[in-house]
Amino acid sequence: MSEALLERVAGFEAECRRRGLAVTVQRRTVFEALSARRDHPTADQVYDAVRDRLPGLSRTTVYRVLETLVDAGFVRKVQHAGGVARFDPITERHHHLVCEACGRLVDVDDAVVPALRLPEARGTGFRITDYSVSFLGLCGACARAKR
Ligand SMILES: [Zn+2]
Ligand SMILES: [Zn+2]
Repeated sequence: MSEALLERVAGFEAECRRRGLAVTVQRRTVFEALSARRDHPTADQVYDAVRDRLPGLSRTTVYRVLETLVDAGFVRKVQHAGGVARFDPITERHHHLVCEACGRLVDVDDAVVPALRLPEARGTGFRITDYSVSFLGLCGACARAKR
């Protein structure tokens, strides 16, 4: 495991303890598996990644653990209309390239997207808490396949 990953997992455990959230083997393993990748896996892909390390683990448990991590703010859920939910270990605001053919999700360097001024939501009762930008299109592999 890389130094950065070890540090991230240690930070996760410390934050859980600080908040009185139990650090179960499942939670730690799922968080670690997710933090190790940048491809925004689906819940099923996370399950495939951890099942060998946690014998007897059910798919449902992985789904539940992911929801817990999302609710606690350790992980971000990224979902596009018609697409299956994907999970992102980066919780700071960042933007994505989204392939409309295969659903691939790639992080975009924040610097290319200027900070947006939040729209005036007065009168609608809507309280804006965050935003992210999705650039839709075709990934390299899908664009090649279409040619
Ligand atoms: Zn694609
Ligand atoms: Zn991302």
